[in-house]
Amino acid sequence: MRPAILNPLFAPVTALSGIGRELGRAIERLAGPLVVDLLWHLPTGIVDRRASPPVAALQEGRIQTIRVTVEAHRPAAGRRPYRIFCGDGTGRIELVYFNVKGDYLSRLLPVGAERIVSGRVEFRNRVPQIVHPDLVLSPNELGRLKPIEPVYPLTAGLSPRLLQRGIAAAVERAIELPEWIDPALKERRRWPSWSEAVRAVHNPACEADLDPSGPTRERLAYDEIFASQLAVALFRAHRQQRPGRATIGSGKFSAGVEAGLGFALTRSQRGAIAEITADMARPKPMMRLLQGDVGSGKTVVALMAMLTAVEAGAQAALLAPTEILARQHHTTLARHTAAAGIEVALLTGREKGKARQSLLADLASGALSMVVGTHALLEPDVVFADLALAVIDEQHRFGVEQRLDLAAKGRNADTLLMSATPIPRTLMMTLYGDLDSSRLLEKPAGRPGVLTRALALDRQGEVVAAVSRALEGGAKVYWICPVVEESESLDLAAAEERFHALSPLFPGRVGLVHGRMKGGERDRAMAAFAGGDTDLLVATTVIEVGVDVPLANVMVIEHAERFGLSQLHQLRGRIGRGARKSICLLLYQAPLGAVARRRIEILRESEDGFRIAEEDLHLRGAGEILGTRQSGLQSLRLADPARHEPLVAAAHDDARLALEGDPPRLPAGPRGEALRVLLYLFRRDEAIRYLRAG
Ligand code: ADP
Ligand code: MG
Repeated sequence: MRPAILNPLFAPVTALSGIGRELGRAIERLAGPLVVDLLWHLPTGIVDRRASPPVAALQEGRIQTIRVTVEAHRPAAGRRPYRIFCGDGTGRIELVYFNVKGDYLSRLLPVGAERIVSGRVEFRNRVPQIVHPDLVLSPNELGRLKPIEPVYPLTAGLSPRLLQRGIAAAVERAIELPEWIDPALKERRRWPSWSEAVRAVHNPACEADLDPSGPTRERLAYDEIFASQLAVALFRAHRQQRPGRATIGSGKFSAGVEAGLGFALTRSQRGAIAEITADMARPKPMMRLLQGDVGSGKTVVALMAMLTAVEAGAQAALLAPTEILARQHHTTLARHTAAAGIEVALLTGREKGKARQSLLADLASGALSMVVGTHALLEPDVVFADLALAVIDEQHRFGVEQRLDLAAKGRNADTLLMSATPIPRTLMMTLYGDLDSSRLLEKPAGRPGVLTRALALDRQGEVVAAVSRALEGGAKVYWICPVVEESESLDLAAAEERFHALSPLFPGRVGLVHGRMKGGERDRAMAAFAGGDTDLLVATTVIEVGVDVPLANVMVIEHAERFGLSQLHQLRGRIGRGARKSICLLLYQAPLGAVARRRIEILRESEDGFRIAEEDLHLRGAGEILGTRQSGLQSLRLADPARHEPLVAAAHDDARLALEGDPPRLPAGPRGEALRVLLYLFRRDEAIRYLRAG
C-alpha cells in the first residue's frame, strides 16, 4: 500500500485546480498523468523579466517589462496586424497582435488604462514594439509578475502560462516528506530537504540554479538514483533467497544445431554462451543481461541457452515486444532446430481458439519444449510443465514485473534479459546495479560495414535517382519515415504519402509497413520484402526493433534530425548484415541544430554501438537511449547518469547500508518508513511487492 502521505502527489493532474480534461491530456502527453509527474517536469531555462526601463531606454531583442498607458487601438486590416499604441511619458511603444479578436484586446488593454507589459522588444522604423506580449497585467495584479520565470519543455496544445500554473499547483502539494537520505551525507553535501528542493527547482533565481550539479538538482537526482539502487538491492536479496535450479545441458542438440548454423560463432558469442550456460548450471536463479550491438547476433546466443534448457529435459520461452519480432524469432529458431527435431511454438495475440487451446495444452503437458511469443505468453492460462529458462528480448520494453512474470511461470526458472542496444556503463549501474551481464563486443566477420552519408531533404530528387540505380543493381531498400511524436496518424500519413509517391516510380516493387496495420497485413508486407516480392519497403519505425532481412543493403531515413542517436544507429543496424556493400542516407531538414549535427557526425564516424550509446547519453540523457518514453515505461527523470555519475556509486553503497539483516530488507522504524516512501515516490514499489510475495 502506498503511504498515505503520497496520495496528493499520486492524484491525476486534473485534480489540480485549473486543469480540465483537455489540458490534462496535453500534460499527460508531455509529463505524465499524475501530479508527481508535473513535479518531475523540470525547467530547462529561465526568463528574466527584471529589466524594466522607461520606454525611451528600451533595448532591442531583450525581454523587458514596462509600465505604460494605453493610448489608441488600430484594428487589423487585411494582412496588417492589430496594433495598440502605448506610452509612458518618455516614449511610445506598439503592441502587435496577429489573429487576435479585437474585443478581447479592448478588454485586456482598454484605452486610457495603465498596464504592465512584458515581452521581447523589437524595433521597427526606430519605434519599439512587442509582438504578442508574454504578459499584460493591470497595476493591481502586479503580484502575479514573477521577475524570474522558469521555462519548461512544451508540447502542442499547452501554453507556457498554463503549464506554469499547473506546475505551481503541483508544487503546492509537495509537503515535506520524511527524510530518507542519511543525515551525514545530506549535511556534507549541503542538500536541501525534499520539499525545499522541489520548491527551489521550480523557482530558479538565475541560470546557475539550472546547473545539474547544484545542490538542489543534485539532491533530487540522488533521490531518484537511490530509489533505483534500493529497488535493485531488494530484488537481488529477494532473488538470492529463492532456491534456484541447476540446468545442465548434455550437448545432445546444441552441437548439431551449431554445426548447422551455416556460420561460425564469433568469439564473443562463444564467450557469452559459456557464461550463460555456466550460470544456468549453478543452483541459483540466473538474472543476466546480454548486451550486444545491433546485428551482433544475440538471437543465436539465446537459442543456445534455450537448447541447454531443453537438453536438461525442461522448457524454454522467449518473449518479444512486438509481433513482427516474435514471428521473426520463431522462424529463426524453428529453422535452426528443425534438424534436431525440436518443434518451436509461436504464441501471439493472433493465435486464437482451437489452435491456441491445443498449443496451451502442449505447453502444459511438456509436449512442446520451446515457445516464442509476445505479451500473450504472460496470460494467466499459459502454463508450463517445467519452464527452466525465460528469455526477454528488448527487455527495456517490458515493465519490471512483466520481465519477472514469465520466469514466475517456471519452477525456479532462470532469466536471460537481452537489450536492443548497448547500455552505457554508468546507466547500466544506475538502473540495474551490479546485474550480471555478458557482452557481445564484436560483430560477425565478413560484413563490409555501412557507408553513412547525410543530405539535405531538398536533395530528395538525387536520392530517388540513387535508389533507382541501386534497385537496378539488385539492392533491397528500406525507406524510413519519421515519427511525429504528437500524433500517430501524422506519422502514418508521412509513410503512406511516401509510399504513394514512390510506388509509381517502381511499379509493383514497393511495400509499406507501419504500426497501425493489422498484424496479418504487416507480416505479409514484411514477408514480401524478405522474400523478394518487393525491394523497397517504406516503413515507420516499427522496423526498428530487431528486424532481420540480411539482403537489405540501402536505407534512406527521412528527417533524420528528429531521431535520437541510438535510434538512428538501431535503424541503420537493419542493413549491412550481408556481404554486400551497404549505404545509409540520412536526409535532414536544414538548418541542423548543433545537437543534430553532432549526432549525424558521430554516426558517420562510428558503427560501434557501445561508443554511440555513451555519446547519446551525453547528448540526450538516459530516457532517450532506453526508448522508455515511447513505450511508457519509467525512466530517469531527474538524474542524468552522464552528469551525476559520482552519485551512482554513492547511492549504490548507501542502498546496501540502508538495508538490514540477512536477507537484507527495509529496516523497521522511521527510517524504514522513509525509505518506503522513497520507493513509492519513484514508483519502485514493485520491489516491495516482490519482497512481500516472497
Ligand atoms: P541482434 O544482435 O541485432 O539481435 P541477430 O541475432 O538478429 O542480431 O543477428 C543478426 C544476423 O546475423 C542474423 O541474420 C544472424 O543469422 C547473423 N549471425 C549471427 N551470428 C553470426 C555469426 N557468428 N556469423 C555470421 N552471421 C551471424
Ligand atoms: Mg535482436
